[in-house]
Amino acid sequence: MPPLLDALRRPLTSLRLSVTDRCNLRCAYCMPEEEYRWLDRAALLTFEELSRLVDLFLSLGVTKVRLTGGEPLVRRDLAELVAQLARKPGLTDLALTTNGLLLAAEAGALRRAGLHRLTVSLDTLEPARFERLTRRSGLDQVLAGIEAARTAGFRELKLDTVVLRGVNDDELAPLLRYAKSVGAELRFIEYMDVGGATRWRREDVVDRRELLARVAAAFGPATPLPARDAAPAERFVLPDGTTFGIIASTTAPFCRSCDRSRLTADGHWFLCLYATRGIDLRAPLRAGADDAALRALIVPAWSGRSDRGAEERLALADRGAFAPLPQLRDDPHLEMHTRGG
Ligand code: SAM
Ligand code: SF4
Ligand code: SF4
Repeated sequence: MPPLLDALRRPLTSLRLSVTDRCNLRCAYCMPEEEYRWLDRAALLTFEELSRLVDLFLSLGVTKVRLTGGEPLVRRDLAELVAQLARKPGLTDLALTTNGLLLAAEAGALRRAGLHRLTVSLDTLEPARFERLTRRSGLDQVLAGIEAARTAGFRELKLDTVVLRGVNDDELAPLLRYAKSVGAELRFIEYMDVGGATRWRREDVVDRRELLARVAAAFGPATPLPARDAAPAERFVLPDGTTFGIIASTTAPFCRSCDRSRLTADGHWFLCLYATRGIDLRAPLRAGADDAALRALIVPAWSGRSDRGAEERLALADRGAFAPLPQLRDDPHLEMHTRGG
């Protein structure tokens, strides 16, 4: 069926499925606080419930699903969910974003279960810096996870690096070289003022323009490549053949072509990364709603969608953290690690 269009004629084709709000790292740009309020465990959707909701979204034109979190690999038996989803005929792209910490043990099972693509977040190659940035140890495990992903046969491997000024912005060249050495494509992500990024400051963002200048200083000029799909990354190639991407969500947002929505692990559906409220699909699901009743919640919401969160943030004269701490404590759904990056 033709995809459902929103008020700005953007199709509902991509769904980010957060399978847990828990995480085994505490990245400074995502979870900088000492304590968090977690989702109620009884509220987490079971694999059967997740699968049913995915079926519903597929029936409305979604073709791409990305599993995320929190850290998706801390959800027990994730490969079983992958296997259930991979069997769905309408799902042409099934991907996973992970911090890589538990990947070495899981890569083979995920591949066998039918996962198509894998993105690993990697912000530094220096162990001491990894510990400072994530407040946990484990860079070796992440690198072993990337190796295991290659061995398991994941070909379109991507590595995502959030660049923070004064933290890891001196590692652009080593990270690019490392990515090339493992046959992966690196994407630099601008530091975003998403919910949870309570320490965000404009001065700490290394923007697209500066990233390109710094990469060019190390490797020579970067030539733009045509976009491969509706992905938000702009792609470039360097004189030595290395390809890489930049996701300039902070200074050059791509809301105009945004086809993605997010489902939290407890079944709240968000139409935008910056939306302050989601639509609760869990309550009607557990109350026995049939597919028509659930579609009646989804269809009008998407049809009326006019969200352009990142563009609106860009227009703000005085830009700081998206949600203050008391608000995050009050509603954990505002957190990036809850709604899924
Ligand atoms: N835990 C997994 C991981 O880190 O890959 C998946 C969830 S994480 C929320 C998804 C992505 O969001 C990661 O690549 C992470 O770097 C990115 N992210 C989190 N906070 C961010 C921020 N403030 N600015 C830019 N990207 C951010
Ligand atoms: Fe880091 Fe991902 Fe965990 Fe956020 S959810 S703290 S980005 S590993
Ligand atoms: Fe899409 Fe909202 Fe992100 Fe813009 S800010 S790209 S509308 S999710």
